[in-house]
Amino acid sequence: MKTVYDKEEYTDKKNFLKNILNLVFMKIRAIDAIKFTEQYCEEKTCEWKYDEEFCFYDTECDEAYQLEVGDLDENKHNYCPFCGGKIVLNKPINNNIMKTDLENAINVLTDSLAEDSDYYHGWLANIAMAMYDEFKEAGISHPQLHELCNKGAKRFLDYLINL
Ligand SMILES: [Zn+2]
Repeated sequence: MKTVYDKEEYTDKKNFLKNILNLVFMKIRAIDAIKFTEQYCEEKTCEWKYDEEFCFYDTECDEAYQLEVGDLDENKHNYCPFCGGKIVLNKPINNNIMKTDLENAINVLTDSLAEDSDYYHGWLANIAMAMYDEFKEAGISHPQLHELCNKGAKRFLDYLINL
């Protein structure tokens, strides 16, 4: 049994403990790093929308991406090459749907105006009176004001119908 203080042995033990502690801390740091990475990978996503009209992907990180052939699965694209987020493919952007809806609405309106004279005159009277009231309120008078407003309304409606 040693009774004398052995500096070398003490230093060895000290270094040994130091190394153990370092290993423990390194392991804790490594676990934290893995946790952080996992969390980052889980949370970080990038929403992509496919633009059917122009055939490209519109990314959440404001980039545009185009594939030569096939879709994202076929090309094994899982992560956004711009921001690194996991790609979440959303409903395609279909500009045609909105365009078609609007076109349909205008067609229904103009067809009704062209075919139904009561409907046409309802619109004509409303537009003409709105103009007439504006002129009156502004103090503008003209002997043919009523007639001119009707003509203006008719001009607008006929233009709309023949659009
Ligand atoms: Zn992205």
